[in-house]
Amino acid sequence: VPRAALRPLALALALTAALSPAAAAARRPAPRRPITVVATTTQLQDFVRNVGGARVKVVGLLRPNVDPHEYEPRPSDVAAVGSAGVVVEQGVGLDDWLDKVVRSAGRHPRIVVASRGAAILPGDGSEPQGDPHIWLDPRNAVVMVDDIAAGLAAADPADAAAFRGGARRYVARIRALDRRLARLVATVPPSRRKLVTDHDAFGYLARRYGIQVVGAIIPSLSTAAEPSARALAELIDTIRKAGVKVVFSEASVNPKLAREVASEAGARVDSSLYGDTLGPPGSPGATYLGALSYDVTAMARGFEAG
Ligand SMILES: [Zn+2]
Repeated sequence: VPRAALRPLALALALTAALSPAAAAARRPAPRRPITVVATTTQLQDFVRNVGGARVKVVGLLRPNVDPHEYEPRPSDVAAVGSAGVVVEQGVGLDDWLDKVVRSAGRHPRIVVASRGAAILPGDGSEPQGDPHIWLDPRNAVVMVDDIAAGLAAADPADAAAFRGGARRYVARIRALDRRLARLVATVPPSRRKLVTDHDAFGYLARRYGIQVVGAIIPSLSTAAEPSARALAELIDTIRKAGVKVVFSEASVNPKLAREVASEAGARVDSSLYGDTLGPPGSPGATYLGALSYDVTAMARGFEAG
């Protein structure tokens, strides 16, 4: 074989070697360990997963269907915060207990407050810092996602572009769902959009979609409050007069009282909403988008019930 004919073959072989997956992997920097991000609420955990993808390992403190209003931190929460790269909290009253956990952990992790720039509705006696259910307005959820992306980018600048990209894609999905749900609620006449729930958790959602909150079984922004017999009697009267046919319970609240009130008022209890927490894996409310879609769809159906 003439020597000149060998040269292209050798070149081709060299190129093949350079383009093989093994060669490509050898050139790529070794994958870095994901940063461990502790997030207090179930909604924040989902937001962090969507922003960070494979670059974060999310450790959640609150679990699905656990009432955050009366949460008592566990020793495992202290351990989780002790080994976290970043801690994401909501603020606005719902996870005040985090300060205590951070103190017990004995170190100062980077803390991202995911409510900076969110529109906060007024609080009440039990939630003086403001209505804590801020994620239930998808426009606030967008702000929270952006806060998280900025916080993760500050903690891990090498992956900043990836975090911003994750946030951008996820925000597009939130906005698309928000538009779809607004169109759905708009099919219900405004006079029928009357909401009664277990506690006063849906003020943000109601404001966003033009829904009127008629009352709540626990007439408070926190589930820690207890309704008086007089308040319950007034609520039953209100439900009758308003012609409300469906009372909504919430997945993390005992539905017993809602059933009694509904029965007295000639209404029925429908689908338990994902108010304070997302649902467990596999449930329709396992993600923020799933929970929001489930809640508003159930409401629209309930408003139309005759
Ligand atoms: Zn609540």
